[in-house]
Amino acid sequence: MPDLVLKNIKKKYPAFTLDVDLEVRQGEFLSIIGPSGSGKSTLLNIIAGLESPDSGKVLFADEDLTDVSVQKRGFSMVFQDYALFPSMNVEKNLSYAMKIRKMKRGEQKENVKALLDFVNLSGYEKRRIATLSGGEAQRVALARALSSQPRVLLLDEPLSALDASLRRHLRDEIRRIHDERGNLTTIYVTHDREEAFSISDRIAIIRNGRIEMIDTCENIYRQPKTLFTAYFTGDGTGLPAELFSLELDADTIFFRPEAVRVPADGLFYGDSDAYIILENTEVVSAEFLGRNYLLGLSWQGHRLLAESFSRPQSRTITVYIRKTQLLFFRDNELVT
Ligand code: ADP
Ligand code: MG
Repeated sequence: MPDLVLKNIKKKYPAFTLDVDLEVRQGEFLSIIGPSGSGKSTLLNIIAGLESPDSGKVLFADEDLTDVSVQKRGFSMVFQDYALFPSMNVEKNLSYAMKIRKMKRGEQKENVKALLDFVNLSGYEKRRIATLSGGEAQRVALARALSSQPRVLLLDEPLSALDASLRRHLRDEIRRIHDERGNLTTIYVTHDREEAFSISDRIAIIRNGRIEMIDTCENIYRQPKTLFTAYFTGDGTGLPAELFSLELDADTIFFRPEAVRVPADGLFYGDSDAYIILENTEVVSAEFLGRNYLLGLSWQGHRLLAESFSRPQSRTITVYIRKTQLLFFRDNELVT
């Protein structure tokens, strides 16, 4: 059941145009990923009501919110820079919305305590914002966003200012918060594909103000609808289709590193008809990733990425690309 619907939304800036249709399901965790300047924040701000579209509609549960104010939408937003009130302590930041709604003092205190428990910051009521670490400040910002019982939670690159291990921990927390809140619809903007893959039900890829694809993580990775989506969502190699005798009318073949087999001992045991065989491939680099190696290869002047479970023993090797794992593109679109 679609919950939040963007119909024919257009927003024009001098050097940029956003043009999107989007349906987000009730209780869904949707991530929006795309390069810097692709329109992620503009899209989120339009959903929040912080910006108004030039045309189109924002609907929630069939209600037209296009001209409804930020406050009345019942959505909450979390920003990269926390946007907390620096002169107020944690408790005052969290009870701000409750005060405006004229909630009783005792009830406010209880709610603040519950919110802090919820984001693992019990006992932080009196702490000043300036004394919080980045991770703690972002938890307070999350708690504040939840304090108004939002119907939709909007997060704009909330973890970008934090270091890698904290980012990983907090993204799991965000997913837990989403799940425990039951019917909360969450839209999470990031430029980090791994982050998006780890927490999302679905992902939308945005480029130049347009959504190129919206689907499950698996479909986006395995069946990218555009070449841009293919490259943006993981490592991969595109080669001119004319190098191979194919029956399909494609201009580019694309494959992920894991589609390439690099026999450890140089001996290949598979059914060779099921593979494209590239002989005299030069090993240019071998990046140790712990579980395996990412090889940079050069074949007839073309660069390739391959996965390998051991470091190649020779400089020149033969590699095998599984035909069933090839994707074919024509004019940047997947050929099916
Ligand atoms: P992202 O969040 O994906 O990095 P934004 O949505 O912030 O991208 O911006 C998309 C494009 O719109 C950028 O080229 C940006 O410069 C432009 N833009 C955003 N806000 C404005 C504005 N208020 N006036 C003019 N151009 C803007
Ligand atoms: Mg942005």
